[in-house]
Amino acid sequence: IKSKLPDTMLSIFTQMSALAEKHQAINLSQGFPNYPASPELIALVNTYMQKGYNQYAPMAGMMALRERIAQKIDVMYGLDVHPETEITITAGATQAIFTAIATLIRPGDEVIIFEPAYDSYRPSVELFGGKVVPIRLLAPDFKIDWESVRAAVTDKTRLLIINNPNNPSTKMLRRDDLMQLESLLKQSEAFLLSDEVYEHIVFDNRAHETILAYPSLRERSYVVASFGKLLHTTGWKLGYVIAPSVLTNEFRKVHQFNVFSANTPMQLAIADYLKNSDNYLSLPSFFQEKRDFLTQGLQGSPLRVINSESTYFLLVDYSAVSQLSEFDFAKYLTEHYAVATIPVSAFYSASCEQNLVRICFAKDQTTLAKAIDLLHKIV
Ligand code: PMP
Ligand code: GLN
Repeated sequence: IKSKLPDTMLSIFTQMSALAEKHQAINLSQGFPNYPASPELIALVNTYMQKGYNQYAPMAGMMALRERIAQKIDVMYGLDVHPETEITITAGATQAIFTAIATLIRPGDEVIIFEPAYDSYRPSVELFGGKVVPIRLLAPDFKIDWESVRAAVTDKTRLLIINNPNNPSTKMLRRDDLMQLESLLKQSEAFLLSDEVYEHIVFDNRAHETILAYPSLRERSYVVASFGKLLHTTGWKLGYVIAPSVLTNEFRKVHQFNVFSANTPMQLAIADYLKNSDNYLSLPSFFQEKRDFLTQGLQGSPLRVINSESTYFLLVDYSAVSQLSEFDFAKYLTEHYAVATIPVSAFYSASCEQNLVRICFAKDQTTLAKAIDLLHKIV
């Protein structure tokens, strides 16, 4: 068969999780929590299943959940979003991203992405004949040089994809970045896909700059979120997309033949669970404790931590102990020290070696303590 994605391989997350299993290593590679989700939330799902909510949800999602999302956005940012015309529930952020790209991209369109980039962006663009134009950002700051972005925009640029807060760099865009983006897009017809799945996981009292707060950006954007990150339930595969009604209409045309609708009882349970705003406002402190525990725990080890601003990841520099490539070092760490991580080079399309691996700290205290012990043994 002539592959539509000849260069696409098994994702690095799948590869490293499999390697972790093979070597019985602590899996700090693929990003997912290893502690239980809220019993209250699980009980709600059960209740709704038992009450008989087991059939198709409306195509755009249960209204109770869309209304709750609108309320959450008001609590978080003081912004209005219309549940009927601007919010669509999806089967995870991945489907929202894929469907938004399918909605917009035609053969020959150019799509600007920032690397390190989440792995689903490129293949999704290429499936629809789009051409990815990567802009490379480097450690330790991963700062965007907006002049180089301006230079990359052409009359073929159909879409820019940003991921803020960023996986894997852990950096967050500042107000100044968003203003630069606003000014840059004034001269372009391009759309924006803003992957904000880590919006609730930000540290040291930083404020997340959502695209929704920038009217001239919001009017041309799909903003994507994930309940997997918010509720510690990555296996539920639920998320949502927010866009102005014109863009939402086009999105739903594709969505209805992509998945049609997402899981009914879970949508209803989440709508109830998020009534209590503590259930999302408590995330920064919950994860900051884990970040601090791991950061402090690694002091005195050969791994140098790059301060994590957001997400449930942190990057470590291993150049004090090894000159292996990032992939080989991640493999070596899994095989010899029983800790699996992700090479940051996997998030770049062309070779980029910075002696960095990504560690996921969405883990219980015991697991993190065990990993810290093992990582101190590296010689
Ligand atoms: N975008 C980014 C940056 C992510 O890290 C992830 C999950 N790892 C996703 C999208 C996908 O989210 P979901 O699991 O809801 O599909
Ligand atoms: N987004 C997760 C991560 O960055 C992985 C999700 C996946 O395996 N597709 O680790």
